[in-house]
Amino acid sequence: MEVDTLKDEFNRVVKKQKLASSRTIDLVNQIEKEIEQAIGAIQENGTDRDAASNLNHEILTNLKNKLKELVPVKQLESCQKEMNTALGKWVKTTEKFFINDISKAYKNVDMEPHVLNEIIANHLYREALFDIGDNFLGEASCLASIKLKQLFQEMYEIFGALRTEKSEPALSWAMKNHDALLQNDSCLELKLHQLQFVEILKQGKRDEALQYARTYLAPFATIHKDVIQKLIASILWAGRLDQSPYTEFLVPTNWEKLAEEFAQQFCNLKGQSSTGPMGMTVAAGAEVLPILLKLMTVLTAKREWHSMKEFPFPLDLRRDFQFHSVFICPVLREQGSDDNPPMLLPCGHVLSKQSTVKLSKSSSRSFKCPYCPFEALASECKRLYI
Ligand SMILES: [Zn+2]
Repeated sequence: MEVDTLKDEFNRVVKKQKLASSRTIDLVNQIEKEIEQAIGAIQENGTDRDAASNLNHEILTNLKNKLKELVPVKQLESCQKEMNTALGKWVKTTEKFFINDISKAYKNVDMEPHVLNEIIANHLYREALFDIGDNFLGEASCLASIKLKQLFQEMYEIFGALRTEKSEPALSWAMKNHDALLQNDSCLELKLHQLQFVEILKQGKRDEALQYARTYLAPFATIHKDVIQKLIASILWAGRLDQSPYTEFLVPTNWEKLAEEFAQQFCNLKGQSSTGPMGMTVAAGAEVLPILLKLMTVLTAKREWHSMKEFPFPLDLRRDFQFHSVFICPVLREQGSDDNPPMLLPCGHVLSKQSTVKLSKSSSRSFKCPYCPFEALASECKRLYI
């Protein structure tokens, strides 16, 4: 069932509620009008008591009849009924949509409590929930995550500064990690220097800009030649960059994106994944939960599920959850591993190591590639890392 169905049902309830409300207001207004008219008519009656009394009686009888015609209670009841029907349907759809008993799909996993506590604490620190993380660790009497806390505190300080358009802390971090960032093919440092440089140019300080370029931009000249050339040429337009062919440097920086890029690089250099492992695990679990629940309905005994080492069918997760390429040997039809890694044959085809060993009769002779006419020696095959 799609979320759209749920939305449609909800909109139906809202529509009925609005209709019921406007009908009720109309009805009340109508009754009020009739009563006011009757009061007005009574007040207009003359002073002759008997005649007035007769007229009043007539007016009240008329009012009574009119109110009877309106049948307000019945009208209100029917409105309410329609709304209740829609509401009841919405509740049923919601219950169907949100499976409230997910316990069928869980499986007992032996896990040391301190490991679990550490994972939770790490998650809290990663999410910058430092106070909650501290409280949690205090209650769990676990100290293992303190280092990670310091690491993420540093990251969030710089991250926060970048988001408020302050580049200095990020720049000093990037300069400290110059070599490692270059190794990662990251342009973060250059992007940050570019910001500083353009700022100087905007103030028309040509000499200062030139000095800045010599000191900080020049080291990037060999790798990012095109950008550096443009930046250097833009010095000629100091103070009037807006009239230059280099207005691209004036495009407001997407600080948010830059902050994300910094966080990614920071995590990378510190050996941390840029997305929280616990959040990712829970998200992946939630993704396959409907399939697991379906699986539970076809498994005859719950014991089967608990003894299962792997799923009986492949579970497709979206690309966001795929971190490694998987190699399946086309000959053995087995997944590659450290013991049985993929090997590149001279012809370009890839087989698992075990396959090459088998085909070459324990590396004793050349063998023909199973996919093309090329002959290969086991010693000519190269291990691939995925
Ligand atoms: Zn081949």
